[in-house]
Order: sequence, then structure tokens, then C-alpha cells
Amino acid sequence: MMARNPYRLDGPALVSFSGGRTSGFMLRQILDAYDGQLPADIHVVFFNTGREFEQTLRFVHECSVRWQVAITWLEFDPAEPFDTSVVGYNSASRDGEPFAKVIRVRGFLPNPTMRLCTHYLKVKRGIAFMRDIMGYEEWVNVVGLRHDEPRRVARQKAMNEADKERFETVLPLDAAKVNRRDVSAFWKRQPFDLGLPDNNGKTPLGNCDLCFMKGAVTIKGIMRLFPDRAKWWIDQERNAPALGTLTKPEMALFRADRPSYRELLNFVRRQRDFEGGPSDDCLPCDCTD
Ligand code: SF4
Repeated sequence: MMARNPYRLDGPALVSFSGGRTSGFMLRQILDAYDGQLPADIHVVFFNTGREFEQTLRFVHECSVRWQVAITWLEFDPAEPFDTSVVGYNSASRDGEPFAKVIRVRGFLPNPTMRLCTHYLKVKRGIAFMRDIMGYEEWVNVVGLRHDEPRRVARQKAMNEADKERFETVLPLDAAKVNRRDVSAFWKRQPFDLGLPDNNGKTPLGNCDLCFMKGAVTIKGIMRLFPDRAKWWIDQERNAPALGTLTKPEMALFRADRPSYRELLNFVRRQRDFEGGPSDDCLPCDCTD
């Protein structure tokens, strides 16, 4: 018997396109598995946090245009039905508005153990789209985790086993044994690419610009290149006490185990490091590449 093509999906399916090279690669393979034309019950979505670099937004748009695939852009917005607004390349938020709304609604900052941002900006928006907007009762969630990310793959599989959700998560890149070198090699052959640096298959500027899950060395490196992008993060920490819900002072920080974003920016400006640097303590986040 011929092995099943992992890129052929049992619809209805939600394909999460993060705007990174890995999920872009996955989308191309899925399109190829259907000769370039997806069945009507396979939906591709991009969850916009408002903190992605412009290059990421352009990349999502370019994949959609060049590959002639509809990509639905979703943002968290409690003023809209199902807390979800459908936007597009031109209308997408670019200053963290959906993210700031999560903080306002929940009353505290996300942190490495409570990743409200991933949950509200991505996971819940996927559910709202498939269940409430499209009206499906069950579906398959298609996530771009690669074969060289075994811990994250194992976690997803364990969540499937627990069977607590309306959807089952499938990982076609893991099934096809795709690793980050395959992804880099694929993009080198394409006539376009994500305009962000590829560091051995990793994209330090991918996902939210100064995501608290990124290591301090990465954060400071990004602040050095784009100091203006620190302002939003500094503002969220500065405004956190006014949320009126903090029971401990460290709750006004995205990371209680390292200096505030304001202090990190100051270190960068003074070209100094803080105690404990420069180890890069990058944590795996749920936001895929
Ligand atoms: S990239 Fe980081 S900050 Fe952005 S939603 Fe994901 S975990 Fe949160």
C-alpha cells in the first residue's frame, strides 16, 4: 500500500500560517498535494498580533498572491462578534493593538507560564473562526512543527491524546520528517522569501518582535537594531499597575526573572550587560515559525 501523503488533509481543516518560513513551506506542500487548489473546507489563517515585523505581513500577503490561496487574517477584538475581526494586509494592526486588548481584557501581562497572548490571539481565534464563523463542530488543526522539534511535537501529541478540544492537531511536517535545513533549502530556491534573516533555519525576528519567550541576548540584539520597537513593550509594563489587578509587583513584568523592557533598552543604550548575561535563555513558545 502506498503511504498516505501527510499533506492531504481530512477536512474540515484549519491551516495555521504563522508568517514564518516553516509554515510557508508547509502551506506550499499542502497546495501541491491538491494541485494548487484547496478544497473549500480547508482554510488557511494568519493570526495577527500587531507586533510582527512588516516583513512578516508582506510575506503572508505575497504567499497568498503568488500562490493564489485565500488567507484569512484574524485579530482579537472584543468589540466584534466572537471577539474576532477579519482584517487584511492593508487594514491589519501594526502597533500591537490586538495584543494590548488581550492585556486590557484579562487585566494582566502574559508571562512564560501564562501565555495569554498565544491563547487569545491565536488558539481562541482559530476556534472562533472554525466553530462560530464557519459553523464546524469538529475539525483538524494543521500546525507547522518540524521533525527536529521533538519536544514540541510530543507535547502536541499528548494534547491530542487528552482529547479535550473540538479539534485534532496534525503535524504534516513531522510526519514527512522535514527539518529546518529542508525549509531553508526550499526558500533558497523560491523567487521570493520572508525578508527577515535566516540564522541556520531560525528567524530571530519572526513572530512578535520582542516576544518575552525570546532569550535576553536576542531581545537586546533586536533592540539594538530597532530601538523604537521597544516602546510598546515598555508601555505595557509601565501601564500594568493601572490595570488594578496586580497582586505582586513582578506582575508588572513580562518576565519576573529578568530586567524590565525599559532596563533592557537602557543596557543596550549604555552598551552594558546585566548580571547573568549573556546566556541566551530562549524558551520554546507555542507560536510556531
Ligand atoms: S510570539 Fe510571543 S509574545 Fe507573540 S503571541 Fe507568541 S508567545 Fe505571545
